[in-house]
Amino acid sequence: MIRTRFAPSPTGFLHVGGLRTALYAYLYAKKGGGKFILRIEDTDLERTVPGAVELIYRTMHETGLVYDEGPDVGGDYGPYVQTERKGMYLQYAQKLIESGDAYYCFCSKERLEQLHKDGATKYDKHCLHTVSREEAEKRIAAGEKYVIRQNIPAQGVSSYVDLVFGEIKVDYNDLEDNILIKSDGYPTYNFANVIDDHLMGITHVIRGVEYLSSTPKYNLLYDALGWERPQYIHLQPIMRDAHQKLSKRHGDANYEDFIAKGFLKDAIVNYIALLGWSPKDNREKMTLAEMEQLFSLDGISKSASIFDETKMRWLNSLYVKELSEEAYHAHALPFYAKLDYLEGIDLQYLSTLLHSRTEVFTDVEKLTSFIKEFDAFDTAIFTNAKWKTDAALAAKILPELLEVADKQWDNLHDALNAYAERAGYKKGQVLWIFRIALTGAASTPGGATEMATLFGKTESIRRLWYALGKVKN
Ligand code: GLU
Repeated sequence: MIRTRFAPSPTGFLHVGGLRTALYAYLYAKKGGGKFILRIEDTDLERTVPGAVELIYRTMHETGLVYDEGPDVGGDYGPYVQTERKGMYLQYAQKLIESGDAYYCFCSKERLEQLHKDGATKYDKHCLHTVSREEAEKRIAAGEKYVIRQNIPAQGVSSYVDLVFGEIKVDYNDLEDNILIKSDGYPTYNFANVIDDHLMGITHVIRGVEYLSSTPKYNLLYDALGWERPQYIHLQPIMRDAHQKLSKRHGDANYEDFIAKGFLKDAIVNYIALLGWSPKDNREKMTLAEMEQLFSLDGISKSASIFDETKMRWLNSLYVKELSEEAYHAHALPFYAKLDYLEGIDLQYLSTLLHSRTEVFTDVEKLTSFIKEFDAFDTAIFTNAKWKTDAALAAKILPELLEVADKQWDNLHDALNAYAERAGYKKGQVLWIFRIALTGAASTPGGATEMATLFGKTESIRRLWYALGKVKN
């Protein structure tokens, strides 16, 4: 049975790249009728950020990437947090020492720094050659600090087949004798990923391409321990542009930031899926359930993908359009709450006007900014070549429009049309002047009478008077 895992380190927000890895691991497991596992890789204590684990649970939950096993849901292969597995790793490291595939190292920080200064690009196997096992064990018993390093063969080539990239060959010479167990007793990622993937029965390892060339080291460990190697699927990075990787440092690359910007979670998941994978029929809009059916490895891209926020906005707009009026309004409310100038506005009605015009929910600010800018509007805005209108015409007809609004408010649309006919103007001329006078903006999320409904009678009349005052000067 297929078993995949997402193995994040709790170092902060879940960025787009991490979420994509999680998504592909999830989809691959679901497509194959397998299990998807969450494992927290927290053995680098200095990098662990408080709260990050909870954020991972929450994000997975919100995005629908339900894991079958994990720290907070349990499972037969737990614990699923590496620091809680601390006691398991040493025995395997000791086995590797027995077989000569690992060794104790006592080199001081100073020696390692000197080595580096002298131009060495990797550890020189000093302790392998100078410290016998008996001596090492005595020194350890005497309380000396040590690490355990992997013993990479001096010569040879390692190869394996990545399911996306094909055969990968790496010369042992290019690999370092990495630390497997640190002096604090915790395993490094380089060791723990192998032990845990094996013990958790992981069949397919899906992760970032940065691990492509260190995987031969892990394969050596599987081989030395007599374990079957998993299959590997490495994913190309997501780029900000042709040169820069999208990274956590760019504040906008996190799931949380996209939510704050007003993207819908389904659209985020959908867009992220497309960053490195496409289904056979090249369709772009897909629900998670559809992706579970459509996912396949041959759709995974061998080249990096570029994050395109414009496209993500477009995709989001399709999801926004599908929302019911209720759902749109519920999503919009927290965004309205940040805009104090909306006080007194009928928000429910505002939602009906903004719904079809919203790509992401932060757009509601741009779409309504005319409301707060009204007092400062420039009367030149009445000028419209198509309708042959300007501020002078506005000054002339606004008193009459005020009267229509006051007397025939309940039937405003027809009344404005009737006025245009009676007074010999084009309908569009009258509606343009009326709408500009009400809003102070050429482009508004709705026509003249919709804007009047939005503001209500009292506020509309106040605005018309204000506009009249402006054009009269
Ligand atoms: N903890 C590693 C990371 O966050 C996981 C890599 C892997 O999936 O093996 O990059």
